[in-house]
Amino acid sequence: MYKQCSKCLYDTNHPFGLSIYHNECSGCSTHLEKYSINWNQKEEELRSIVKEVKKKSRTYDCIVPVIGDAEDYYVLLKTIELGLNPLVICVNDYFKNDIGWHNLHQLITYFDVDSIVFNPDIRVYKDLVRTSLRKYEHILLPFLTLHTSFPIHIAKDRKIPLIIWGQHQAIEQVGKFSHHDKVQMSAWSRKEHDLFGIDTNTLIGNGAQVQERDLNYYQYPSISKLESSGIKGIYLSNYMKWDPLKQNTQMIKFGFMPQHNTSSFDIYERAGSSVYYQFHDLLKYKRVGYRKIRDHLVREIRHGRITKIEAQQLEIQYNNSQVDVHQFFHWLDMSKSGIEWFILHKLQGFENLLGDHQMTNIELPKKLDSLCKGGKNQKNDFIIFGKGI
Ligand SMILES: [Zn+2]
Repeated sequence: MYKQCSKCLYDTNHPFGLSIYHNECSGCSTHLEKYSINWNQKEEELRSIVKEVKKKSRTYDCIVPVIGDAEDYYVLLKTIELGLNPLVICVNDYFKNDIGWHNLHQLITYFDVDSIVFNPDIRVYKDLVRTSLRKYEHILLPFLTLHTSFPIHIAKDRKIPLIIWGQHQAIEQVGKFSHHDKVQMSAWSRKEHDLFGIDTNTLIGNGAQVQERDLNYYQYPSISKLESSGIKGIYLSNYMKWDPLKQNTQMIKFGFMPQHNTSSFDIYERAGSSVYYQFHDLLKYKRVGYRKIRDHLVREIRHGRITKIEAQQLEIQYNNSQVDVHQFFHWLDMSKSGIEWFILHKLQGFENLLGDHQMTNIELPKKLDSLCKGGKNQKNDFIIFGKGI
């Protein structure tokens, strides 16, 4: 039965699945754990994992998979503070703008870490984006598929015992598990939460000819191989009191550059992407019925920086923010008539959101406003390779 949470903006249609008891959603009730958990004890648990890893590792202690946004800075900072020697891995999604490449480069040089940037075969990658757009109205699935499997292959091949992720999205958003469950990375969780229940073989099996090297990387290593290699993947948000916006503002001092966008006040999450707050956000709206702004507003309601009523008003305003789709279609090498066809048939009812009208005069509550200042504007979108990386 359809229900809405009385505290936040989510309802039972949330794509991760959400339950509501006594008018409060599982996301809001799991969030409350953050105020009762003994975080010192959690840190001890984390330190004992580190100790075990240190015994096993021969080269790198762990892998930190990154995109290059503010949360990656935070995770890498914590990893180094824990005394771990990380290998940073980034899968090129070919959607970065100049800010995105700056942030990735700065992350690697500032923290002085070894890194691998994996550039998938771009012709195949674009084919998969095309298939994913057609079948699932999603353009990030090929990237998310690689981002959540390529690092695991490297861990297996190089015998690196630990993979460190930042937040577990399904815990943060809908409280799917308790922090106490200490959920770890798994093939099931990847498919269910990172890939929205979609089996990536349905992308690959549909016309795109994927070379053997890449094919392997698009698929998650088999459970038996992982178990025998003893690789663990943990989420730091289970061991530390997670407050993304507050954490992310602190990353500017390490050279992280926040990016202004017109679809949200959050200038840190996925800063540096040419599509995240543009076409991707529009497709999310069409697919699940709300835009990224709702996730950000819910997070801020829970952290007490905005009231539900203020959030509802802001969501209405941000929902009108227009997005550019043409640059993406050019990136995809779509013809003019193809673009027109797509807009006419697939973006019906969303025509008013296509364009470059900038939202102005959006006023944020003070507590929130003070954390969202200083976003820069990108100069160039869709830079497929970063210089010097
Ligand atoms: Zn709620």
